Amino acid sequence: MAVTTRFAPSPTGRLHLGHAFSALAAHDFAADAGGHFLLRIEDIDPGRTREAFVEGIVEDLAWLGLTPYGPVVRQSGRLPLYAAALDRLKAAGLVYPCFCTRAAIAAEIAASAAAPHGPDGPLYPGTCRRLPADERARRMETEPHAWRLDVAAAMAATGPLVWSDGAHRAVPATPEIHGDVVLARKDAPTSYHLAVTIDDAAQGVTDIVRGEDLYAATHVHRLLQALLDLPSPVYHHHRLLTGPDGRRLAKRDGARSLAEMRAEGADPMALVAALRQAARSLPRAPAGDGATGAFDFEPASSGG
Ligand code: GLU
Repeated sequence: MAVTTRFAPSPTGRLHLGHAFSALAAHDFAADAGGHFLLRIEDIDPGRTREAFVEGIVEDLAWLGLTPYGPVVRQSGRLPLYAAALDRLKAAGLVYPCFCTRAAIAAEIAASAAAPHGPDGPLYPGTCRRLPADERARRMETEPHAWRLDVAAAMAATGPLVWSDGAHRAVPATPEIHGDVVLARKDAPTSYHLAVTIDDAAQGVTDIVRGEDLYAATHVHRLLQALLDLPSPVYHHHRLLTGPDGRRLAKRDGARSLAEMRAEGADPMALVAALRQAARSLPRAPAGDGATGAFDFEPASSGG
């Protein structure tokens, strides 16, 4: 099977240097092995997705010279597949409807003496997991609800799991650190965790090359793979780049977008070379420790 990687951005903004670094890492991993680099648009969030950002992603990758293999897959066109997987988990009794609002969850956490925290903040307290069956059935008829994975029940069903971190390290899966994650939202018929797991398998992705900010999410993806009888790819989480000020190159920090750099006359080949150089100087194992590497690139002015 050809080595296959993917870049899977959410079209909720323009791409910035952090995205370019990640796309390049996935692209080069596949290219070095004579394999395929895919592009998948993760547009399941109807409230935040913009068509212009989808076009921008394709444009920015072309500017960097990163050509995806085959058709660009869009998650918004695959919702029935995610629904079918959710139905399977419902039939197995491993998910439950959650009627809680964000405010109710926050209030319950604030009122509890010991609120356990996971990688993304306080864990869901499990309120709706404990609802009596008749109340659950009654409320499902009228109240909007999300679907949560009953992680303890799911892990009891699968037994202990490991995932491959790089080719040689087996990491025990600990999805319980996230609590009962949402697999289908009230406002979207799936979630990042469910859609990404199904699509990586459907697209034959052998190696997931992505940022270390998603390291902990892998525990959930491994559990879903086991529950849905999907293969588990090898995971390679790369370090995150920071600006010269040490802050992450994320769009929310106002980092310059690739489109802005292009407009300023940046040379894409020089940028790609600088990103490859930065990749070489980043610390490697152990992944998951949050170490970052600073990156500074001033676009050469085309005005001379
Ligand atoms: N769509 C996710 C994001 O933009 C990345 C998914 C992944 O690489 O697993 O953060």
